Amino acid sequence: MKVEAIFPHGFCAGVTGAVKKALALPAPAYCLHELVHNELVVEGLRKRGITFVESLDDVPCGATVLFSAHGVSPSVREKAKSRGLAVVDATCPFVTRVHNAARDFSERGLPVVVIGHPAHAEVKGIVGEVADGRAYVYPDLPDADRIGVVSQTTMNADEVAKIVEELRARFEVETTAEVCHATKERQDAVKAFCGDAVLVLGSAQSSNTRRLCEVARCRTFRAGTMDELKALDFSGVETLGVTSGASTPESFFEEALKHLKEECQ
Ligand code: SF4
Repeated sequence: MKVEAIFPHGFCAGVTGAVKKALALPAPAYCLHELVHNELVVEGLRKRGITFVESLDDVPCGATVLFSAHGVSPSVREKAKSRGLAVVDATCPFVTRVHNAARDFSERGLPVVVIGHPAHAEVKGIVGEVADGRAYVYPDLPDADRIGVVSQTTMNADEVAKIVEELRARFEVETTAEVCHATKERQDAVKAFCGDAVLVLGSAQSSNTRRLCEVARCRTFRAGTMDELKALDFSGVETLGVTSGASTPESFFEEALKHLKEECQ
């Protein structure tokens, strides 16, 4: 089997910045939710003294809390302030841009449609920017003539464009909806790959990893750990492209590539 690395892949600027902030924190420190959706990154930080919590109530008063790359809603920021927590904000600037757009639409009286996954931390943070419960996560839609539309940054770029067109047929639309640059260029590279199969290295819970599996124009495999990789059966694959999600460490990519080249070529 011929094994080819697909470029670009792996850490985006937002994840690199978030991990750098986490590594600079003196232990003990707390991180609200997973810093990024990758078990290898989270485990590495846990070993360095960072405790991951799902609620600010689990952070002792006066302690340091890190907000993840996915961002948080204004109510979470207020709560951290009211509890006297020292906040280190690792929200990706591209996510902040989506928050600003949603808040701007909301302040101008437009209901806001968010293209994204309702349970994802990024979407919850964006929805929290919109006043009076006037945020709708597609396909939930308001009864209105004009809407503002934003998108989670790690969606399938083609699907976002398709949904925006669909909404334009029904509403007067103001939109900033698009995936971030890193997501788009990783998806484009996978779509351009012309082998038999693509292996995406990344966690099952990583949105951008799952989207890379979706956009490939051939068979796909996914592995988040070496054990998952070793369990895969590449029978019948002659040319395998290997990429990784924006939260997958390059050390894992290199280890996986080395293994594939040694074992399968
Ligand atoms: S995938 Fe995009 S939005 Fe998410 S952290 Fe990376 S650059 Fe930021």
